Amino acid sequence: MKTFTLDHATSTKSALDALETGARPIAGGTNLVDLMKLQIATPDKLVSIRRAGLDRIAADGTGLSIGAMVTNADCAADERVRQKWPLLAKAILAGASPQLRNRATTGGNLCQRTRCGYFYDTTQDCNKRDPGSGCAARKGFNRIHAVLGTSDACIATYPGDMAVALLALDAVVLTQGPLGLRQIPLCVFHRMPGDDALRDNVLGPGELITSVRLPAPTGGVQLYRKVRDRASYAFALVSVALDLAMEQGRIARCALAFGSLGTVPWRDRAVEEVLTGEKPSPQLFAKAAEVLLKDARGFGGNDFKIPLAARALAATLGEATHSAKA
Ligand SMILES: Cc1cc2nc3c(=O)[nH]c(=O)nc-3n(C[C@H](O)[C@H](O)[C@H](O)COP(=O)(O)OP(=O)(O)OC[C@H]3O[C@@H](n4cnc5c(N)ncnc54)[C@H](O)[C@@H]3O)c2cc1C
Ligand code: SF4
Repeated sequence: MKTFTLDHATSTKSALDALETGARPIAGGTNLVDLMKLQIATPDKLVSIRRAGLDRIAADGTGLSIGAMVTNADCAADERVRQKWPLLAKAILAGASPQLRNRATTGGNLCQRTRCGYFYDTTQDCNKRDPGSGCAARKGFNRIHAVLGTSDACIATYPGDMAVALLALDAVVLTQGPLGLRQIPLCVFHRMPGDDALRDNVLGPGELITSVRLPAPTGGVQLYRKVRDRASYAFALVSVALDLAMEQGRIARCALAFGSLGTVPWRDRAVEEVLTGEKPSPQLFAKAAEVLLKDARGFGGNDFKIPLAARALAATLGEATHSAKA
């Protein structure tokens, strides 16, 4: 591992001061340290933000503010989250392992990098690691890769669970940096690769996530379905986050987001429009899947994700509409 210095910020200001000198923030370290060991990330300076005072969950008007350093374990265990935003707790608990969730943080989870094997293998071509080198995954082993939002440059997924739930819940990411305070709706936080696969999100140099804000709870049925190779300790092949309400036998409102399907956590309002106001039926769910997947493109190994996503969507909608009626 390359030599680096490590400082400990004791406030948001001292963290931002350190970032201004070129330091990189380290939170739980569960992704960054792996990347440093593999020499994929080679920062000269790290600043730990563990003691920067960003580890509180606070009721915020009608919503909830979750500090960037709140661990995934603490967030999922919070009574307010469990009662009013159960989708978030379910998605977090579907991810990683208890040990990892004890270290992993809200801010770090949003910024975790892809699990594409070629990204982690420095002998392989990878535009995300080495821009202009190519993408070994396109013609390689691409079973876990994206079918939506891909480009010639990169077909990797954003692999996390928490952000998928946050996307369906209309979360907003609060940041501080050289340009001052920003409030970034989660739906525009992650970047599709386009012709620049290097950057996964819209954070600028020296910008720190300070918290994530959830708007008022909706009171709908909230489900997270994660399809994966093992029942635990595995990233999603496809995941579905759903917040749905029924009225008089019809879907009155629904918010849907998908994980490990696109290059970013995926939300398509057209799918929600197809469902809203309609009576649930297998035909309706199939129509929604058609809208979701109309531009989906597989690369061989991941072709199966397209029908899998349709089935995962139908199963999640079936379960939610059934329990909303009950
Ligand atoms: C074996 C394994 C299995 C896993 N399984 C899953 C899974 O099933 N589902 C899932 O969702 N995740 C999974 N993860 C990923 C894990 O959840 C992430 O590694 C973790 O959430 C990252 O958080 P962290 O606090 O450790 O981030 P760090 O590793 O400390 O940082 C990650 C990145 O975020 C940046 N960063 C951190 N905090 C901030 C901030 N406040 N502002 C700006 N930038 C910041 C860092 O500079 C770094 O670039 C798994 C990880 C491992 C190792
Ligand atoms: S899919 Fe993206 S991360 Fe994977 S090899 Fe291609 S460019 Fe790299």
